[in-house]
Amino acid sequence: MNERYSRQILFSEIGKIGQEKLLNSRVLIIGCGALGASHSETLARAGVGFLKIIDRDFVEFSNLQRQNLFSESDAKERLPKAIAAKNRLSQINSEVEIEAIVADANYSNIENLVKDCDLILDGTDNFQTRYLVNDACVKLEKTWIYGAAVSGYGATMTIQPYKTPCLRCIFEEMPDAGTSPTCDTAGVIQPIISMISAIQTAEAIKFLTGNFDRLHRALLQFDVWQTDWRRIKLNEPNPECQTCGHKNFEFLEAETKESSAVLCGRNAVQISPPKLTNLDLPALAEKLKNLGSVKQNEYLLRLSLGEYELTVFSDARAIVRGTDDIITARSIYSKYIGT
Ligand SMILES: [Zn+2]
Repeated sequence: MNERYSRQILFSEIGKIGQEKLLNSRVLIIGCGALGASHSETLARAGVGFLKIIDRDFVEFSNLQRQNLFSESDAKERLPKAIAAKNRLSQINSEVEIEAIVADANYSNIENLVKDCDLILDGTDNFQTRYLVNDACVKLEKTWIYGAAVSGYGATMTIQPYKTPCLRCIFEEMPDAGTSPTCDTAGVIQPIISMISAIQTAEAIKFLTGNFDRLHRALLQFDVWQTDWRRIKLNEPNPECQTCGHKNFEFLEAETKESSAVLCGRNAVQISPPKLTNLDLPALAEKLKNLGSVKQNEYLLRLSLGEYELTVFSDARAIVRGTDDIITARSIYSKYIGT
């Protein structure tokens, strides 16, 4: 055991035994934006032996205000976030093994990603991936830590399958597309990232060192701008929950929930969200008006973003022009419409 971890070992509830456990732990971080970057830095510094980081996106200048692992040169090179994170984390702690995966976490790979890890941290930016992660973690009985942050507000909850409520016990249905604010439409400030990430990584360290009775067992909500917070104590899992009650893992069952199709010869991808809905196009136009040029009529809204153009229909279906890559198109949809 080297000097590096001496202050953490002095912390009596971790100690030498806890530190050994951290060094032998394997953690999956899904999404390496602001939350994921913060999780991975804290856990690499703490000496978690193996970190698997998956992200589908690349670094942009608009990330640098809050995504603490990334630098201007990463943004200039448009490096994939998983790779840029691995590069930086290797400088911070070369003793940690890091697997960087540049891919979309979806029904085809999620169980493989999860199965050889002790704990899963949510660094995603959309509900669709969270429901997928919830299904996989409940099915494989892996603990995962939900986290979300937008504008000055955030929430987190630690989910231990069959011991605590799962995500779907609390939020039965995914919110309709276009109804939730995203960091790309409502903005976000860095302090809420630190706050949510701090709770998530503290829970991770408690869990990995075997301090299970210290887990907070609540849905915690914070607003750093209003300086307000709430702790909603969790009861037992809901026996009627589709996921942990009925073991209906529908998000894992192939792409029944969202379909995307490359539109041949048009350099465009069509995205159909899991649940078609009736979008409030004027409200969406108002939300997007500062982000690019917006045109709207009663059937659709078109947002021009330089190299990409996003056309959203009133049922929430969309066509992303400027790419024939489904992952890029989905990422644009999550950022600007939100799922
Ligand atoms: Zn449940």
